[in-house]
Amino acid sequence: MAELVQRYLDQILADHVSSTDGALADYIPELARVDPDGFGLSLSLADGYVYESGDPTIEFTIQSVSKPFTYALALERIGRDAVDAKIGVEPSGEAFNVISVDEATKTPMNPMINAGAIAAVSLIPGATADERFNQIHEFYSACAGRQLAVDDDVYSSEKVTGSRNRAIAYMLQSFGVLDGDPDEILDVYVRQCSIKVTTTDLARMAATLARGGVEAVEERRVASAEVVQRTLSVMVTCGMYDAAGDWVSAVGMPAKSGVGGGIAAVLPGQLGIGVYSPRLDSKGNSVRGVEVCRALSANLGLHFLSVTRESRSTIRHTYDASPGVRVYELHGDLLFTGAEQVLRTLDQECGEFDVAILELSRIDDIDDAARRMLAGMRQSLSAAGKEGFVVDPDDVLRVTQQTYARVFGTLDEALNAARAHRAGSDG
Ligand code: GLN
Repeated sequence: MAELVQRYLDQILADHVSSTDGALADYIPELARVDPDGFGLSLSLADGYVYESGDPTIEFTIQSVSKPFTYALALERIGRDAVDAKIGVEPSGEAFNVISVDEATKTPMNPMINAGAIAAVSLIPGATADERFNQIHEFYSACAGRQLAVDDDVYSSEKVTGSRNRAIAYMLQSFGVLDGDPDEILDVYVRQCSIKVTTTDLARMAATLARGGVEAVEERRVASAEVVQRTLSVMVTCGMYDAAGDWVSAVGMPAKSGVGGGIAAVLPGQLGIGVYSPRLDSKGNSVRGVEVCRALSANLGLHFLSVTRESRSTIRHTYDASPGVRVYELHGDLLFTGAEQVLRTLDQECGEFDVAILELSRIDDIDDAARRMLAGMRQSLSAAGKEGFVVDPDDVLRVTQQTYARVFGTLDEALNAARAHRAGSDG
């Protein structure tokens, strides 16, 4: 059956294989030496299964696809406030290599343009350039699930031609944004951009973000869910530079492109995409990479803002188990809107029962917001002279009995207690 998906991806690639629009990046001379026709696509599902099409073995340099990952690492290492003090999160609407800072704060507009990315490198704690780079290198490797290597030729090539980035680094130093020596920080930045990846690596790195920071091969958490949420947010608004608006409308996935020809795109909770084709448009994004992502999004329905249906009812079934005892069976993921539905229903129906039993054994997941809301359930019911019990065999509520309704391991136990309560013998 997986063949069907494979054929789908092959077809999308075949539809774009003849397009030769765009040009290789040549401001880094080594990048102009790659085969312009190289074309590959990988799609990693959240469980780690990877589909590949075209040539997924081509190695290319990660370039700016590195930026969200170093930003995430900086957030992990020094926390959001310290990072926010040095790097904004506003789309600049400008080219990636623009020499600019926010007028008011004198800090880079966002971490997805070079100024912000160079500042992010300087935030990675380390006494030496090597120490900083090693952390970055290890982090990317952990996200990809394998040890990545550096392309020394591309590194040297960018080192000798990087006047513009040097200008940016020295400007940042003059505004007090850089912690450390600008040349050393630039060296780390250029090394990070020269890390070699395949589309499979990009898909896996993207999937790690899609999974909220847990890499699929080793099943290892490499970043916290909050850090990933922040990182994906700036990828949405700034990841495709001055093409961000068009990208979000047409493709609708947080993404990052690089002048090496790679694009990584993330569908949160679902999958990661890596695509490679080195001919770039005027904004520095891979022409066929963007086309393939557009087609994938449209054909497979991957836009993150497509509303397929309203969230399902959390209450799957309600019945009176005995006179005055009403059971509410809940299912699915219990988040804010589900908990709200439960509380409102109890409110409306509390004239019809003495004891409400919430049956949670079919709940897959529950978040803190829903936990907090259910915490108030017993109190509001007792204000109306009613009682609330919970059947929670897997302990999804993870709470003490005092704060919440009384918790039981089985429905039978809850029913017995409910009947006893109604008979007035419940202490
Ligand atoms: N290393 C490149 C640079 O700084 C990365 C740019 C990019 O991929 N957009 O110019």
